Amino acid sequence: MQNLSDIGVIRAVMEKHGFNFSKALGQNFLINPSVCPRMAEMCGADENTGVIEIGTGVGVLTAELAKRAKKVVAIELDSRLLPVLEETLSDFDNIEILNEDVMKVDLHALIREKFEGMKVVVCANLPYYITSPVITMLLESRLPVEAVTVMIQKEAADRLCTPVGSRESGAITVCTNYYSVPTQLFNVSRGSFMPAPNVDSTVIRLDIRKEPAVKVSDERKFFRIVKAAFAQRRKTVVNSVSSSLSVPKAEIIAALEQAGLDPNVRAEKLTMESFAALCENLV
Ligand code: SAM
Repeated sequence: MQNLSDIGVIRAVMEKHGFNFSKALGQNFLINPSVCPRMAEMCGADENTGVIEIGTGVGVLTAELAKRAKKVVAIELDSRLLPVLEETLSDFDNIEILNEDVMKVDLHALIREKFEGMKVVVCANLPYYITSPVITMLLESRLPVEAVTVMIQKEAADRLCTPVGSRESGAITVCTNYYSVPTQLFNVSRGSFMPAPNVDSTVIRLDIRKEPAVKVSDERKFFRIVKAAFAQRRKTVVNSVSSSLSVPKAEIIAALEQAGLDPNVRAEKLTMESFAALCENLV
């Protein structure tokens, strides 16, 4: 089997198929041989597991996942990679490639149809341009998956994995912590990719909670308020929510006070429980 993290092998296979990198599709391919085995190991893939991969590149992570998992379904948008993958992954009979945009795939149906009786995990080196929408979609769609292990920009990883109520937290922090228990696994330097991006990366794992971190009566309203509270993060929650959702300030002050919270508080100081209480008290 070819070493798919070897620059020479990648260059040769790309040249043979007339493939060149698309910046727009976030194509930075891994060339550090230690990263994919570690990711595949740490994502929970084993002989009873079905893995969804997003973005194959030349198949370097796909191969490591297929060595460990029962089945891998890899979603790749760039059809120019299909003949490449046919060659690079020819040793495996447990990989299926879907030439689709991950944001348009019905993942519930995919899991039902392709992974019957298996536990399911997601594992991907995500394209940078679409990190937050993909993670939000994976979490909000409540897929029957055990964990989501993804490589993303280091700064994004810090924000996703920080505790709610800390200085780096944002609306996406509330989302990841609401649906999952996030953990940073390891860092990957920019030199591990071809072409090298301008930023370093981190592999994170989101272990999906059986029940959300807090109970709220209306999830959509909860996240509407969270987004509004962080919309102007330098302002107080009262000012930010009031201007984003056109709610009178007096109502927000009353809701905060009812929850025992300071009316001058900023969003980054609110815990998950405080957001839940604010949501329940705000009509
Ligand atoms: N897994 C490979 C690796 O680690 O070397 C490639 C990772 S590269 C950062 C991201 C991959 O995602 C590229 O192959 C790109 O074509 C693919 N991609 C970009 N947008 C996508 C989308 N919306 N749906 C599915 N795949 C996408």
